[in-house]
Amino acid sequence: MKLGFHISISGGFKNVIPRARACGCSTIQIFSRNPRSWKYKPLNKQDIELFKKKTKSENISPVFIHMPYLANLASSKSDLSKRSVDSLIEDLERAEITGAQFLILHIGSSHDKKRGIKQMATGINIALNRKKNDVILLLENTAGCGNELGYKFDQIKQIIDQVNEKERIGVVLDTAHAFEAGYDLKTQKGVETTIDEFNNLIGLNKLYLIHLNDSKTKLGSHSDRHWHIGKGEIGNGMRYILNHPLLKEKPFIMETPRESIKDDLMNLRRVKELLNKK
Ligand SMILES: [Zn+2]
Ligand SMILES: [Zn+2]
Repeated sequence: MKLGFHISISGGFKNVIPRARACGCSTIQIFSRNPRSWKYKPLNKQDIELFKKKTKSENISPVFIHMPYLANLASSKSDLSKRSVDSLIEDLERAEITGAQFLILHIGSSHDKKRGIKQMATGINIALNRKKNDVILLLENTAGCGNELGYKFDQIKQIIDQVNEKERIGVVLDTAHAFEAGYDLKTQKGVETTIDEFNNLIGLNKLYLIHLNDSKTKLGSHSDRHWHIGKGEIGNGMRYILNHPLLKEKPFIMETPRESIKDDLMNLRRVKELLNKK
């Protein structure tokens, strides 16, 4: 099973793989730059070469890059939506340079759902057309906080339907976001129903990654608070997600709270315990 964490790039890419190894990752997610700023520096060639070499020698794969948080392709403000598309083009390029196979994009926010969804698809089409490479763009389901789009699988399907290059678009399913959006992942039946709905609407062949997070907030809260595996509101439901036969081949990445590496090691241990309890 491919299992990993979001890993910090602070101090440079050369630090990523040693950090990943310390918390037992066989796959990783990283930012390519500061996620809370529009500003960025060009990637350091030497640093990236070392990163790519280590990724290979440590057999860490796939590598997922997460887009900065500021981007909102669905924004009704044209300067923000344009900036977001530019940001997406930049990270498609950075994903290619760093050898990442996937780029993760949060579905944007808009008070006008229909227009927002259309604008998301238009922005994605522009970016994919501008930057031609093998990187697959993954849309992440949201908790539906405020005006966030993409908390219902049907909304994600509507975006994908309007994307021209279907082979370059997929989905990452965040378990905390799904639960917070109202998909009951606490019980075996709830997990089955949720996976079935995803499969019927989008297709599990489009699911390239699970963000394995428990939730601090209640079912349908529309409030996003990630929590430690098995210790949040999803709790025991994590067991059914981890052992679901149709998810067996998918990579799992945790974005659980981390004060120190001890938290990661605890969550890793918890996942391994749950995997044995079928
Ligand atoms: Zn996530
Ligand atoms: Zn989240």
